[in-house]
Amino acid sequence: MNVLVLNNGSSSLKFQLIRTDPDLAARDADERLARGVVDRIGGQALLTFQAAGRPARRETTPVRDHRTAVEEVLRWIASETSGVPIGGLREIDAVGHRVVHGGEYFRRSVLVDDEVLRNLEDTLDLAPLHNPHNLRGIYAAREVLGPGVPQAAVFDTAFHHTLPEHAYLYAIPYPLYRRHRVRRYGFHGTSHRYVAYRYRVLTGMPREKVRIVTLHLGNGASACAIAGGNSVDTSMGFTPLEGLVMGTRSGDIDPALVDYIAAKEGLTAADVELILNKQSGLLGISGLTHDMRDLLAEAREHDDRRARLAIDIFCYRARKYIGAYLAALGGADAVVFTGGIGENSPEIREGIVDGLQWFGLELDPESNRQMVGGREGRISAPGARLEAWVIPTDEEILIARDTMRLVLGIESRY
Ligand code: ADP
Repeated sequence: MNVLVLNNGSSSLKFQLIRTDPDLAARDADERLARGVVDRIGGQALLTFQAAGRPARRETTPVRDHRTAVEEVLRWIASETSGVPIGGLREIDAVGHRVVHGGEYFRRSVLVDDEVLRNLEDTLDLAPLHNPHNLRGIYAAREVLGPGVPQAAVFDTAFHHTLPEHAYLYAIPYPLYRRHRVRRYGFHGTSHRYVAYRYRVLTGMPREKVRIVTLHLGNGASACAIAGGNSVDTSMGFTPLEGLVMGTRSGDIDPALVDYIAAKEGLTAADVELILNKQSGLLGISGLTHDMRDLLAEAREHDDRRARLAIDIFCYRARKYIGAYLAALGGADAVVFTGGIGENSPEIREGIVDGLQWFGLELDPESNRQMVGGREGRISAPGARLEAWVIPTDEEILIARDTMRLVLGIESRY
């Protein structure tokens, strides 16, 4: 089955075309047929497309809205693939959409129908920065492909639906939860879920036995405590702003700061929230960049004090969360790194686990150095009581497989 995986952002559309079926999935042999991005939707857009085994193609063309973006993607797939085995447009069997927020209602991936769309409309004010674009993408794909092509929604929040009450409730008046569903939801769920699944495959451990802390460290960053294969705590909260230090997000702060900064700087609460989302984190501390690779270069080459400080605060916060989650889990077997930073930076991984020797975590320097660029494996020293692993994430594969299983009516146990 060929599944088109769509990730609609505010002004971009990322896609992958993946061939999968129950047998391919069981053998981890799903095929990536094509991928690409439509960037700067709403103006002169930049399109980047690549079919497997072919050179990337780039073009600029006006793309008015998400519907036009979906049309461009389909047009390209049809033209690029006619005459080669993956066939043309007709061979898109289903579409899987990444949806950021599923609220309390969506606890797993679902096939999209009118009722799902109505319930998705209800999540819009929970995630005003993300969900409207995701929803726009679903409407666009439905219009362009017609009702004959099934569509699925896969939620960033769904993996965290197993959080117990004591982990998801804030210690604020309970009626605020009842009236407005103010609680922690957690995000990056598809990534944490994929990594936990791969960890099982790599170690041969049954799902029920998996007790690990996963760290997704990319532009956004979050930690997840996983017991019995389920998420039992995670660092992002009502929105993706809570928790770890991120590229431009502050992560945890004292909420009293919002009012204080607003008063001192003559801003509104919404202005301060924007600062916490867009001008904080690595960028805010360093005053240089949100990009970890550039920050590491600044620290190394120019010994920039604030670049170093931003890196230290990033590592320290991540280490604190590992400690907290080891306590929450009553111990764990492994810490797993993923995301652009987690998969590629031995230096940051070392900075984070430095001081966790106490828990029995000792890195193997050589394995840590080598585990970059998409490699997957253990980086702790042989015999370490708490292991460390690097497992590159692959949210698209999980979205494709969820979609395929929903279309075929097969239960997923990931
Ligand atoms: P997103 O959350 O947008 O998907 P990614 O998971 O791609 O982001 O992660 C992007 C981050 O990964 C950036 O901060 C980037 O600098 C960092 N990164 C990528 N490669 C390296 C590297 N070799 N060393 C350090 N950081 C890296």
